[in-house]
Amino acid sequence: MRRQKTERVTKRIVILGSGTGGTLAANRLRRASGEQVKITVVDRDDDHVYQPGLLFVPFGLAAPEDLVRSRPRQLRRGIEYHRGDVDRVDPDAARVYLRDGTVLAYDALVVATGARLVPEETEGLTGAGWRDTVHTFYDYDGAMALEAALDGFTGGRLVVNVVDLPIKCPVAPLEFCFLADWYFTERGIRDRVRLTYVTPLDAAFTKPVAAAALAGLLAEKGIELVTEFNTGEVDGAGGRLVSYDGREVPFDLAVLVPLHSGQSYVDRSPGLGDELGFVPADPHTLQAKARPDIFVIGDAAALPTSKAGSVTHFEGTVLTRNVLRYLAGRPLDTGFDGHTNCFIESGFRKAMLIDFDYDTEPLTGHFPAAVGLPLLKESRLNHWGKLMFSWLYWHSLLPGRDIPGISTRMPRAGKHFPVTADH
Ligand SMILES: Cc1cc2nc3c(=O)[nH]c(=O)nc-3n(C[C@H](O)[C@H](O)[C@H](O)COP(=O)(O)OP(=O)(O)OC[C@H]3O[C@@H](n4cnc5c(N)ncnc54)[C@H](O)[C@@H]3O)c2cc1C
Repeated sequence: MRRQKTERVTKRIVILGSGTGGTLAANRLRRASGEQVKITVVDRDDDHVYQPGLLFVPFGLAAPEDLVRSRPRQLRRGIEYHRGDVDRVDPDAARVYLRDGTVLAYDALVVATGARLVPEETEGLTGAGWRDTVHTFYDYDGAMALEAALDGFTGGRLVVNVVDLPIKCPVAPLEFCFLADWYFTERGIRDRVRLTYVTPLDAAFTKPVAAAALAGLLAEKGIELVTEFNTGEVDGAGGRLVSYDGREVPFDLAVLVPLHSGQSYVDRSPGLGDELGFVPADPHTLQAKARPDIFVIGDAAALPTSKAGSVTHFEGTVLTRNVLRYLAGRPLDTGFDGHTNCFIESGFRKAMLIDFDYDTEPLTGHFPAAVGLPLLKESRLNHWGKLMFSWLYWHSLLPGRDIPGISTRMPRAGKHFPVTADH
């Protein structure tokens, strides 16, 4: 009897971006699916930068070269890596077009191309004074240039300004202020430096309990807080931030967090993105609104959660499950809860920790249970947690492993919930 030849159908998963989200999604998918799927990852360059480390570079606390590793080397064997720039996605044809002429057809697409800094969108920001008296630490070159600028700074007004939200890691500019306070104290010139934090928000942070704690910390460290300031112009030559309503904040050295948008190819991909170039998705399944065969992870997503590596990590579990469920024709997991977890470096080898989700704001207590790291409170333990995160990033998070004791969903145990009337 002739044996029937069984044909194995290989599904094609294409992942756009090999940063935090693309790398961990590829590795998780590879581990969960074995040989049954072909995974292709696309990125336009080969240098994976550990972005949380950029905060430390200006203060001489991290060597820039230690933050960079090869992208393809973070991927498990069997994952195909293609270096190329995405030009556009055609969701109707289920194809990705690269600038080098390559066309990639997919059965499921994962968008993991992150956020783009667009400093040129703010009048004057990249004009006179750029990389001289006007800086950012939000990219590799900027962090290095700022290290030299801080080193040569001997006194005057240092202003840290968030132009508008959303931004990656919304606590990073506050951390910069706290570290600047420590840095100038160490150099013995703190009394000669006036530090000001300028934000478009009506408080130090978005969530009330955390905002109060962070405003308290700013005040304690003698850092001035300017709120509801919508930066319309950066006048590098005159040393002024000018808001749309005509207010001015003078500076000798300005550290800006520029506007963020999605990647420009999203605008060339019909129906994929919103007006900022971010990709709308179901907040619980991470399936793109545009098409059921597209999923989104990390900063590229238009979701009501923070743009942070921790969020990207927690999303990874649900995203992997859902891509495979979609390919198998099974119902999706609706379990992503917006879980966010951020260490806030506060200087003098201390840090705070916040942990929240879509429905719960950062609260006091402990993480991940009644015994653990203190929440919304400065501690040395949290500082060591922040430093240890770099090791976990390369050895646990990117390879797609779970971190022992840390669940994808936000833990409720250990948090001090406000007492409500019906309790
Ligand atoms: C200064 C700073 C401090 C931070 N601190 C923290 C922190 O303490 N904790 C925390 O959780 N998070 C922190 N973050 C945020 C964290 O780094 C990001 O949220 C995380 O890296 C998002 O991952 P992602 O995969 O979405 O994007 P990324 O890691 O940025 O990856 C996107 C990838 O897409 C590629 N790409 C983009 N466009 C194209 C294209 N057209 N073609 C091909 N490839 C493309 C890029 O090259 C990149 O590799 C910080 C970020 C910054 C800037």
